[in-house]
Amino acid sequence: MLTRLPKVLMAAVPGCLLLSVAMIALCASQSRARSIAAFCSTIPGKELRTGVSQPAGRQSTLEPQSYKIRIDFREPLRATVQAILTFPDGRLFTHEHAGGYEWSDFIKDIQATREDGSVIPIQSLGPGQWGIKASKDEAVRLSYDVDLSFAEEMREGTQRGGQFFGNSLYIVNRSLFVMSNAVGPRHVEFVVPPGFQIATPWHAVTPSGYQARDNSELADNFTVIGSFPSFKIAEGDFHLDMVMPGGTQATQALIEPVVRSVLHEYIRIFPNTPDFHVLMAVFRGVEINGEGYRDSAALTYPEQIEMGNRVLWASYLAHELFHHWNGDLIAGSDEGDDFGTTEWFAEGGTEYIANRTVVRAGIIDRSEYIRKMETNIGMYEYWTWAAPFRGTSIQNAGAKTALPMPPGMIAKTYNRAGVYNGGWVASFCLDTKIQTDTQGKKGLEDVFRLMFAKFGITGKQWKPQDLVRVSSEVAGTDLSSFFRKYIADANPLPVQEYLANAGFDGLILDYGGEANVTPTANPNRLAQEIREHLWAKAW
Ligand SMILES: [Zn+2]
Repeated sequence: MLTRLPKVLMAAVPGCLLLSVAMIALCASQSRARSIAAFCSTIPGKELRTGVSQPAGRQSTLEPQSYKIRIDFREPLRATVQAILTFPDGRLFTHEHAGGYEWSDFIKDIQATREDGSVIPIQSLGPGQWGIKASKDEAVRLSYDVDLSFAEEMREGTQRGGQFFGNSLYIVNRSLFVMSNAVGPRHVEFVVPPGFQIATPWHAVTPSGYQARDNSELADNFTVIGSFPSFKIAEGDFHLDMVMPGGTQATQALIEPVVRSVLHEYIRIFPNTPDFHVLMAVFRGVEINGEGYRDSAALTYPEQIEMGNRVLWASYLAHELFHHWNGDLIAGSDEGDDFGTTEWFAEGGTEYIANRTVVRAGIIDRSEYIRKMETNIGMYEYWTWAAPFRGTSIQNAGAKTALPMPPGMIAKTYNRAGVYNGGWVASFCLDTKIQTDTQGKKGLEDVFRLMFAKFGITGKQWKPQDLVRVSSEVAGTDLSSFFRKYIADANPLPVQEYLANAGFDGLILDYGGEANVTPTANPNRLAQEIREHLWAKAW
């Protein structure tokens, strides 16, 4: 996570994130977490329980490696923390600077005392680092305040720090904890006003008490406190807790059925999805962006979530959720020459399935779906035509650019129309080709399933030639010339031909970025089948 953040900041584009078990990567970033599938399959017993609970507010005696955190929403916004910790190496520290936040800036009035109340001096060793002269096993009482006023400002990047909504608080745990290197679990108890809910991915021990296995689980997650809508979904072994700080019951009523339909479809595609638990916060920020943590993920959107604009946010949610499978579990290699070469499939393939899913579920209608087709085709066609992008293949679009990039930009952003829209069009053409070659018996979905079996489950990263092999195996015919010509080399895809094979008429002007797509009046049986497969309800 930490290594990716600076890239994300530099990219400064509407981002999307990759869901994962261990962490989540923004789509705008080019390197991704790689230990995810392995983590998933080697720790089958992992049981995270998100507690959205009503704390009883009882007092308890603190054992070593325990924190008691008092938060209410009175001004100034702050948390008061009392901890009992041991310091085996005489060091205490906050999480290192991340996401534009220097966490130690928020720690106020830090004080350490012995059991008998005598003060133990603390020396600053630099930002977020202190030394303490305590014996190895001595239980030290630590007290400090966390100034949370930074969360009151609505600005870019709050998903990386915190955002206050008046009646609820989304707070990245990195701000809350001064930690020690003691081994073993950490216990956390929240003391909050009656009626406050608490959402965290930690294991709930009591209504307001939680256990985190280590400092990473403690700090590399977020907590949502206060009053906010929430819902839980379990589809197969996929467990999602969604919280909407700042949202209303109306927000929940719109989002929940969308997420339910989408996850239902994804588990239908991937019935063998390994056990996965995630806490997801969705809230209104100043940008479309996302941030992934160890067992939690935050998505922000700039518009009010309404029925009238769900053509935008429903696909966005569906896209982000599909990244759990395509991008995280099915993860491409970024080693050496492979760098960026699988981005088109991670992004375009994900958007293609996301769009198909929301139309199949009836979340958007067929004319809205056709507009998405037209936008993807139009953007891709212009990208193949326009001088700043010309000569770049879809496969290279994630890493190379035709002209030098502006400072701070990454290829995936520069070539967004090649990676996302081009990836969408390539996925559509591949899907159509496989269905045509197999007389409708197989399609891109089967490619995803086989990729999942060969890479998603095994934790192996795939390379471009792997997708060629898997697609050929599914199609029952050698597809290497398709991949060489249209994916590896910069030849524009014959979109009109594939549209016709899928039961659509296409009028395309590459230099105008224009695509007009209409359903063919009387398609042949196979074309009609391929078209129905795109948007007919599948469950
Ligand atoms: Zn994405």
